[in-house]
Amino acid sequence: MSEQIKIVEDATCTFCGCVCDDIELTVDTEKKCITKAKNACVLGRAWFSEHGVADYPEALIGGKEATVDEAVEEAVDILLEARFPIIYGMSDTTCEAQRQIVAIADYLRANIDTTTSVCHGPSGIAFQGVGESTATLGEIKNRADLVMYWGCNPAEAHPRHFVRYAVSAKGMYTPNGKKDRTVVMFDVRSTQSTPVADIFVKVNPGKDFEVLWALRALVKGRTIDAAIEERTGVSLETLQDLVERMKSCRFGVLFFGMGLTMTRGRHFNSGALLALAADLNEFTHFVAKPSRGHGNVTGADNVVSWQTGYPFGVNFNRGYPRFNPGEFTTVDLLSRGDADAACIIASDPAANFPRKAIENLKKIPVITFDPKPTVTSQLARVAFTTATYGINVAGTAYRMDDVPIPLRPAFESPYPSDEEVLIKIKKRILERKNH
Ligand code: SF4
Repeated sequence: MSEQIKIVEDATCTFCGCVCDDIELTVDTEKKCITKAKNACVLGRAWFSEHGVADYPEALIGGKEATVDEAVEEAVDILLEARFPIIYGMSDTTCEAQRQIVAIADYLRANIDTTTSVCHGPSGIAFQGVGESTATLGEIKNRADLVMYWGCNPAEAHPRHFVRYAVSAKGMYTPNGKKDRTVVMFDVRSTQSTPVADIFVKVNPGKDFEVLWALRALVKGRTIDAAIEERTGVSLETLQDLVERMKSCRFGVLFFGMGLTMTRGRHFNSGALLALAADLNEFTHFVAKPSRGHGNVTGADNVVSWQTGYPFGVNFNRGYPRFNPGEFTTVDLLSRGDADAACIIASDPAANFPRKAIENLKKIPVITFDPKPTVTSQLARVAFTTATYGINVAGTAYRMDDVPIPLRPAFESPYPSDEEVLIKIKKRILERKNH
């Protein structure tokens, strides 16, 4: 093998919440790119191949090239002058960088929020109210004989979820993989994941809560009117059959996605599903796990929770953390026009937020951190180009089951990491505040 080619074993893919840590990367160290990503799925392969080193400026101020130090000074000016700065994103960077972001928010008395507020925020609220019967994906792989997916589409969003963790994966007590499991999918329509299911349950749009509550009632031995089918699209016989399977399985799991959390009912939906899993523990072992999208969105929840006591939508205006989704979540703050500066880390809200929020984002100074230009970085006053976590930057990312996974970078980037830039910003904020 030529000296130019390096193999990185057990590298970690941080594209989605599966955070697969069994990837073998072939790296061209001279061209600084990854030529092969063995074991990665189609999304992972694209992630690795698209993150070579490009020729972007290390920083831009008002669209003009600048050094990192100049951009740090400009960013600190913006943040210190703001009366209501907001910090948002964080789901595609290391936990080490996330820790720095929380510290900066605290020093600035800023508002801090993660992409959780637009995906599993309702689950974050439900966890506080209902609790969580939980397990790692390793336990699920080794033990689960009834696997239920509700409002998620792993075939397209988490392509290795089936093979690595939950459906065809062979475990200690599931040596025959799929043959040892029953797979149930609940959704409002069939998706690319549906063919994997032994049982597909089509729920009328917006009726997930009713179906979950009916399942809870049946688990507790209550009577349900057969008219439930007219409202929900799911017959009483189907519900009774599912309850029998749930009560008699050895180890059951309910995975749930944005098809449940971001539809009518939101945190009531997540709460009903978590309560159903808890109820089933009277009969067998049953757990519930959210299917998380971004590579380290789970890390963002964990880091923000350790530091502030709350997982997202946290406000430091009064000098102590306050949590109030709907008030301190970024879409709401921007839509109301409350924020007067925004620091966006590893996220692209200008590409996917509601129109009103984007209009207001365009009116205020924005600071961005991203390995590549994005819609948001193009409207930023200060844009940092940073190294890609997992590919150029070591550190920690949390898998969707809250298991921390170390990152093994493939090659060095000429750009600094998010953490390095954030430490500089934090240092300058402290120096200027104490001056
Ligand atoms: S399933 Fe997700 S983490 Fe695993 S290789 Fe595919 S994109 Fe990467």
